[in-house]
Amino acid sequence: MFVTAIIAAGGRGERLGAGQPKQLLLVGGRAILERSVAAFLTHPNVDEVIVALPPDVAAAPPSYLRQTTRPLRVVAGGARRQDSVALAFQAVHAATDVVVIHDAARPFASADLIARTIAAAAQCGAALAALPARDTVKRASRADVGSEGEQGGSEGVDRGYYVRETLPRELIFLAQTPQAFRREILRSALALGGEATDEAALVERAGHRVQLVEGEATNIKITGPDDLTVAEAIAAAEAPGAVAQPSSRPARTGRAGTGYDLHRLVPGRPLVIGGVTVESDRGALGHSDADVVCHAITDAILGAACLGDIGRHFPDSDPRWKGASSLDLLGRAAALVAEEGLLVGNVDVTVILERPRIRDAVDAMRAAVAAALGIDVARVSIKGKTNEGVDALGRGEAIAAHAVALLRAR
Ligand code: MG
Repeated sequence: MFVTAIIAAGGRGERLGAGQPKQLLLVGGRAILERSVAAFLTHPNVDEVIVALPPDVAAAPPSYLRQTTRPLRVVAGGARRQDSVALAFQAVHAATDVVVIHDAARPFASADLIARTIAAAAQCGAALAALPARDTVKRASRADVGSEGEQGGSEGVDRGYYVRETLPRELIFLAQTPQAFRREILRSALALGGEATDEAALVERAGHRVQLVEGEATNIKITGPDDLTVAEAIAAAEAPGAVAQPSSRPARTGRAGTGYDLHRLVPGRPLVIGGVTVESDRGALGHSDADVVCHAITDAILGAACLGDIGRHFPDSDPRWKGASSLDLLGRAAALVAEEGLLVGNVDVTVILERPRIRDAVDAMRAAVAAALGIDVARVSIKGKTNEGVDALGRGEAIAAHAVALLRAR
């Protein structure tokens, strides 16, 4: 199944001030739009992402929309939200089976919610995330507008609204996004046109059943200053080291990855380990500088992010990487991972080398690796071991390294 995500970010929403579209404001140090897009870019069930932006932003998109490891396209949005979605829909991949639409102003949709909404749409044709109403729901009338209360002015509810009836709460749901649709169903609904505040309303009007998927209280829509305050609290609760509150969803766990590398040792080559050239009568044979520590860590962090391995990103068949500094490749790998919204929490490496002993060079290696990763040296551990004379490693024919990395959400 091919799934295309459309992120509706075409509105300007400048009510929040700062003279820029609200989706570009920061929450927890990260743009609202970046968070919303990352939830889909990193989602295992999403194959491509299309972001509808205000035309001036689409003309010069922020860097987190330009350097991505998965297909992402930017389109200029229209006057209304539904116009933006329709424009983005024209750009979906020919193979698309399901389109999942999400408001950029909802930066906290969980991967689980996205997966459940896509699965429900694949099965039933149309689905939307919605929260059951918790409060008692009143239908109101305005004293000066006869029996219907739907011409609400700008005065606010405390001027002229009266309760008309109490609605059965069990049947009231508050619509969120994501909303997902089989492609043909969305196509026919968009073709109908008409005013609508979400795509599900168009699909309902086209006569399709729309399944409800249980939404999340933390999946808030940021529209006013109060929402920003709540959003900062949600972001803080999700941040690494935060104490999970019973009322909030659990902080995201880290992601672990492992890496392993081995190179033959031959005379006439330098022995580069963790970016440090170690005095030795033999060096590691390889296309690059054959630094097993950097290669093992590169694989560990790429693995933790499910981004493949060093050979995929820096193939030894590519002349660009001949004689390359493996510290440089490690830094590039860290940047790839950062684009997925992940940071390196810590790495731990075991180097297996019969001789020489690396103990005295370990601190210099840790400093070099930490600098390449852009993290504190206290988060990098490197340990040396011999193979007790056993096997090729024990005979000094090769050097090997094992690495474990833990990544955390930004
Ligand atoms: Mg290697």
